Amino acid sequence: MDINAVIQRLEQRDPHDTHFRQAAKGLLGSLDGYLKDHPEIADSALLERLLEPERTVIFRVTWVDDHGATRVNRGYRVQMNGALGPYKGGLRFHPSVNLDILRFLALEQTIKNALTGLPLGAGKGGSDFDPKGRSDGEIMRFCQAFMSELYRHIGPDIDVPAGDMGVGTREVGYLFGMYRKLSGTFSGTLTGKGPTFGGSALRPEATGYGLVYFAQQALRCQDDTLEGKAVAVSGAGSVARHAALKAIEMGARVVTLSDSRGLIHRQQGFDAEQVGELARIKANGGGVADLAGQATGVSYHENEKPWARACDVALPCATQNELDQHDARALVKGGCRWLLEGANMPCTAGAVAVVREAGLGYAPGKAANAGGVAVSGLEMSQNSLREYWSASEVDRRLYGLMENIHRQCVEHGGGDHGGPPDYETGAAVAGFSRVAEAMRGQGIL
Ligand code: NDP
Repeated sequence: MDINAVIQRLEQRDPHDTHFRQAAKGLLGSLDGYLKDHPEIADSALLERLLEPERTVIFRVTWVDDHGATRVNRGYRVQMNGALGPYKGGLRFHPSVNLDILRFLALEQTIKNALTGLPLGAGKGGSDFDPKGRSDGEIMRFCQAFMSELYRHIGPDIDVPAGDMGVGTREVGYLFGMYRKLSGTFSGTLTGKGPTFGGSALRPEATGYGLVYFAQQALRCQDDTLEGKAVAVSGAGSVARHAALKAIEMGARVVTLSDSRGLIHRQQGFDAEQVGELARIKANGGGVADLAGQATGVSYHENEKPWARACDVALPCATQNELDQHDARALVKGGCRWLLEGANMPCTAGAVAVVREAGLGYAPGKAANAGGVAVSGLEMSQNSLREYWSASEVDRRLYGLMENIHRQCVEHGGGDHGGPPDYETGAAVAGFSRVAEAMRGQGIL
């Protein structure tokens, strides 16, 4: 199988889809050895089929703002691969959203969902709507307008969206309410719902907690722990804050957090109260700078990223391509030993090459941030069973799922040379082989 030819075809067909091509190149590069050993896998254009969404829906979203002006946004749902179960993946509301971004996210989701071992296909969707500065009424009207088209394409056995950037419990609640009204059913069609109407305990926490559970396993394999480690976290959103809280609970020193405007640093590490305060600040439209104004020992650095600060462990949890080659060199220089991705594809290809060359333990998002979709899968199970599981029960299962993902990565990523295993190859091979087997078993579709 000539991987270069596959990538070249992507380039010819969609020359502007740079993020999708980056994700595809990364995945196929990691699968190179495996595909050579299993030539039968790539029969029947399996790779080409994997890289082409089963269905893409693009629609107009018309809504009215608080001043009575009519606004028009674009909505999307990419139903990428349904071989393992109903399409599953988040909705992102951010001005940068376009088909390229959603297709890259949907491809990452395909491998990630397969790694969870749960019956989940993969999809991703969203809109170029910018929720920043919008009132609660505007958010509700936008969510209702978005769902007034999306509802035709989803369902508990068809496609089960969840949140992503710009879509949290509140937005999922408004989306679910509209879906319930339009479909006339109360079903588990969205995950990340409020706890009083079918939402799972720990869903908001799951991605960040899962990331730290994965980090704990990875360090343990090297006879090490997170205790006392300096951890640099980027972002101040759902994933970043919950990763920070779990790392603090495990005795680590979380020395940075950030947002799109700048970085906050605290040499002795943030405490849980400060991270809680940051959640309140962000919910009220503030920035990380506001925490620096209130808390002692916290400095703010406008337009800076965390990666030049000395740390042992880096957890990029903000957005795609936030950490480039230059940042990776700064991390290596600062003594960093581990880079585990909380965001989806936060490292450029150049950054990944630098950290691998320097021998850092590197875990890609498709493995390390799978805790969110894993608990979404548990929410689907609870909804089907008409049950609520306690937070401790969900946490126990989340831990077990992350342990299993880590084990699969080690199994397929080697690791007999003394250093950390090749998690990138391990995640790609373990996830891809499961999807490929299901696709082959279902015939040429
Ligand atoms: P949120 O919207 O809650 O938070 C995103 C954070 O990233 C905000 O602090 C935002 O800052 C910051 N940010 C956005 N763009 C930039 C930028 N260009 N430079 C620096 N910081 C930036 O999103 P989530 O926490 O939910 O998601 C974060 C990442 O994790 C995404 O890649 C997402 O796909 C991934 N992910 C999320 C999952 C989930 O369960 N939510 C599951 C798996 C992966 P500001 O507030 O200033 O905009």
